[in-house]
Amino acid sequence: MLVDSHCHLDFPDFAADLPGVIARAKAAGVGGMLTIATRVAKADTYRAIAEAHPEVWYTVGTHPHGAAEEPDVAPDVIARLADHPRCVGIGEAGLDYHYADAAPAMVQEQVLRAHIEAARVTGLPLVIHARDADEHMERVLADEMGRGRFSAVLHCFSSGARLAEAGVELGLFVSFSGIVTFRRSTALRDIARQVPHDRILVETDAPFLAPEPHRGRTNEPAYTADTARSLAATLGLDAEAFARLTSANFHRLFAKTQPKAGAPA
Ligand SMILES: [Zn+2]
Ligand SMILES: [Zn+2]
Repeated sequence: MLVDSHCHLDFPDFAADLPGVIARAKAAGVGGMLTIATRVAKADTYRAIAEAHPEVWYTVGTHPHGAAEEPDVAPDVIARLADHPRCVGIGEAGLDYHYADAAPAMVQEQVLRAHIEAARVTGLPLVIHARDADEHMERVLADEMGRGRFSAVLHCFSSGARLAEAGVELGLFVSFSGIVTFRRSTALRDIARQVPHDRILVETDAPFLAPEPHRGRTNEPAYTADTARSLAATLGLDAEAFARLTSANFHRLFAKTQPKAGAPA
């Protein structure tokens, strides 16, 4: 069984047929999905999706694209919202300088640091979004790790080898999306081969970035299987071993997803 470690099931693309989306994921061997928050203000929406679907967990946080909308969100507010059995992580939060209208770097950094503090006080892992921000991200992560440990994943990894290396050294996981299936992504595949196997996760980031052979269509959790097939080949693993490895990694990082001892399977 695979797990889609990062998708956005609240997006309008899925509103018409979420049960169908989840059924197709399960049919493709994707038994669990983590739906990722982009605004703290929408925490109720993510919670409702997870409560309605036993295959889905959720996170709470502010995406860097929303940093200017939620610049002052306090760590204890995030922590309180995360106090739910199916809320298993904090984020996504991070730094993204790709678009010209991005929030100012200082605001993005402040929001990221608040989420890191929330990850620390809750003990929940942080889902980190980093785009065109390699140096700044490395600096903030190293500084914050020095202030107190937290666990995290660099999601939809598309940064440079240096940030991957720094992240691994800091104990972080690295998650690969459909980008790793694209023909031109040779540098990214080289990075994937350098990440220790026990730190690798797989995700769709649906509805964005559908992997080959679905490129250009709306991405959905079922396509985790396609990225997994491609990434397994890159790493020289068979599909079964890759699924076992990445699912074990997922449950180790997002420890709240582990079935309770003694609970019915
Ligand atoms: Zn992201
Ligand atoms: Zn995302």
